[in-house]
Amino acid sequence: MSTSRPRSELLYAEALLHIVGGVNSPSRSFKAVGGGAPVFMKRARGAHFWDVDDNRYIDYLCAYGPIITGHAHPHITAAITRAAENGTLYGTPTELEIELARMLKAAIPSMDKVRFVNSGTEAVMTTIRVARAFTKRSKIIKFAGCYHGHSDLVLVAAGSGPSTLGIPDSAGVPASIAGEVITVPFNDPESLKQALERWGDEVAAVMVEPIVGNFGMVMPKPGFLEELCRMTREAGALVIYDEVISAFRFHYGSAHTYDVFPDKAAIEPDLTALGKIIGGGLPIGAYGGRKEVMEQVAPLGPAYQAGTMAGNPASISAGIACLEVLQKPGVYEGMDALAVQLADALRASADSYGIPLQINRIRGSFSAHFCSHPVTNYDEAQDTDGEQFAQFFRLMLEQGICLAPSKYEAWFLTTAHTEEDIAATIQAADQALRAMAA
Ligand code: PLP
Repeated sequence: MSTSRPRSELLYAEALLHIVGGVNSPSRSFKAVGGGAPVFMKRARGAHFWDVDDNRYIDYLCAYGPIITGHAHPHITAAITRAAENGTLYGTPTELEIELARMLKAAIPSMDKVRFVNSGTEAVMTTIRVARAFTKRSKIIKFAGCYHGHSDLVLVAAGSGPSTLGIPDSAGVPASIAGEVITVPFNDPESLKQALERWGDEVAAVMVEPIVGNFGMVMPKPGFLEELCRMTREAGALVIYDEVISAFRFHYGSAHTYDVFPDKAAIEPDLTALGKIIGGGLPIGAYGGRKEVMEQVAPLGPAYQAGTMAGNPASISAGIACLEVLQKPGVYEGMDALAVQLADALRASADSYGIPLQINRIRGSFSAHFCSHPVTNYDEAQDTDGEQFAQFFRLMLEQGICLAPSKYEAWFLTTAHTEEDIAATIQAADQALRAMAA
């Protein structure tokens, strides 16, 4: 099977005339995998996509994380339809918002209070403002390669998108803002300690993806989050977890309720930013945390944050429906089992053709790095073969397997992927790796 995509090429040429770079998010461009027209999709259902040339793909991009129940899941589609029939936006509170807030609080007990926004970017941006208001300090410590959206403060030494494009910092971010951000390596408590010793009394918050999804999938080393939380609190700063990718991805909850971490109390954050899965495929973000910290937010407190579209009934309904699907027994175990099969087979194929491949799998998602060293931080993720990835990406696409066009992005499984999808993917990957070795 080989896909031919003349209409995608035509549409890309047209899009370039009207939309900057032809795409509405740089991560959708094929710049990092050799350039050319990205695939224009027209329809998606379950684990599958159809492009404008009627080629079918098995989807592992999953919209960069939000899609976990497969595309057009009937329970979510029905919820969105119901919401649309009742009017799409009121500008008033609704009962639905309380329901989703309750569901989030029940799953993530570190959140006493929640506020809904429209994207992960907004959620993260606001947690920083709230932390600054609460501590009356201004600096932020973040970790190299963790991506926290595109607000100014967190585009300093940012992760997957910018690094893929080879832009370490974005133009347009003033040096005065970048000067408020300290970046240290992930999984390296000693560097964090040094940063806190130097700037500790100016630091409002330490911001981290507790389980990284932006330079591949990377688990914190045992004890890293515990150390991070302890040192941050000792410095009088707040811990912010960016769980825009990780919440509800590996289990029904967030990092500090995930049973791979033995001491949950020791890794509890002050604030958490959410997005992606909690909107069931519609635009959403949320942030929440300890009551006294959250009470900094207007109308209760002095930290301002607002949103015309925030808490809109369609996004909230889709989010509730998505979480309902994820509450069903066996959902995460099913994704886990398929991901094990796929990751094991990828490793075995790569081994058999002498291609170094490191797989970091966390339940139903994983990253595949073309390198022979472990990937535990951003430097190690950068030190992987981008050209080999680009070749693999294109060979997979030709065979109807849709991956993210970046060596830093994860493969995501959904509740809709089947044994048959996995078998087809294993076969395609074997062919791709064989061709690469030839
Ligand atoms: N935080 C993390 C960990 C992310 O991966 C992303 C997006 O990929 C964001 C924040 C920004 O979310 P959004 O794209 O919804 O603004």
